[in-house]
Amino acid sequence: MVAKADINVESIRKDFPILQQEVNGRPLVYFDNAASSQKPLQVVQAIEDYYNNFHSNVHRGVHHLSQKATDAYEAARETVKDFINARSIKEVNFTKGTTEGINLVAHSFGRKFIQEGDEIVISTMEHHSNIVPWQMICEERGATLKVIPINEHGELLLDEFDQLLTEKTKLIALVYVSNSLGTINPVEYIIEKAHEIGAKVLLDAAQAAPHQKIDVQELDCDFLALSAHKMMGPTGMGILYGKETLLEQMLPYQGGGEMIKEVTFEKTTYNELPFKFEAGTPNIAGGIALKATIDYIHSIGWDFIEKQEADLLQYATEQISQISGIRIVGTAEKKAGVLSFLLGDHHPYDVGVILDQLGIAVRTGHHCCQPLMNRLGIEGTCRASFAFYNTTEEVDRLIEGIQRAQKMLG
Ligand code: PLP
Repeated sequence: MVAKADINVESIRKDFPILQQEVNGRPLVYFDNAASSQKPLQVVQAIEDYYNNFHSNVHRGVHHLSQKATDAYEAARETVKDFINARSIKEVNFTKGTTEGINLVAHSFGRKFIQEGDEIVISTMEHHSNIVPWQMICEERGATLKVIPINEHGELLLDEFDQLLTEKTKLIALVYVSNSLGTINPVEYIIEKAHEIGAKVLLDAAQAAPHQKIDVQELDCDFLALSAHKMMGPTGMGILYGKETLLEQMLPYQGGGEMIKEVTFEKTTYNELPFKFEAGTPNIAGGIALKATIDYIHSIGWDFIEKQEADLLQYATEQISQISGIRIVGTAEKKAGVLSFLLGDHHPYDVGVILDQLGIAVRTGHHCCQPLMNRLGIEGTCRASFAFYNTTEEVDRLIEGIQRAQKMLG
């Protein structure tokens, strides 16, 4: 590991062997970080170390390996607690990812607190995982789903948001950073307004967590969900933060081992937080690797991560804007490292295939945001999304690739 003062992209890239390969005869340019980012050696080694040296089931064993695995797994929870600045580990629930975290809240909060006639508010730019669970619970409970509109830059219309709030609003579920537009939403404003009328706020931080420090106490959000795999961590691992007072009142999401205190055929009592929401054998390797991920992020430092990604976005935006026929989709004033674009009338898929032939990985399609695409009147976009291990030389390759695609597609 490089010392903090010596942090630079060249040294960081040595931690990511996967980036050092060729694809279709050219050095790989990996710009699909919003879908899933790559993992440093330190994270892969943590998984290897666990399986090679102390794999065992957690929490229940009296023997050495089980205790060692439990200690490592629970140390991860402490690390996450500090990472998001939760008040206690009781507020840190391990999940499979953002999707599961949102479903947990929709199910457990929804069944406890959403009544017929109540309202849940989301926004136009939500990922399907922050739409469908709310549609399901609205249908089940007889509640109504309301949607905050956006302007043509991909920014929330806050005046209209204010109008949407009523005494029936129970929850606002909002994406912190949009995966398809890059918009960083004014979540502080939303949370303040929501709390004025007694509504709760869930933040989908899937795209925020990899790029900026998150402080749940400062934000004062009621729930926050994130996925480890989008922040250099393992797949199948995520966090649901919830305020302890709310989690205490909510019923478990799933039943099974681990989440119980005592079971008889007549009645079951539930385990205390956070285990109440963690039925079954958890993703132990995932938890341990998540700790290694957070340690790695801290070794790089948020200052470096934020600056590198902001510089890449600015440079890429300037360069791509010079290509005739380019339309950038998502031009909000406050943006994270996501550059969605269309090249003339060409289908994003065709552009993506040509870029892949040149060794450049971008994502094409609706990015799990079909209602947003409908609002924008498009089928989808090409999306380049940046991580701190990307370089301006790679952006140059993308620009050349787009120019090449333009020539080939005519
Ligand atoms: N929310 C946003 C904004 C996302 O970008 C994604 C994934 O792309 C998700 C939620 C779902 O994340 P996961 O598939 O890791 O549960």
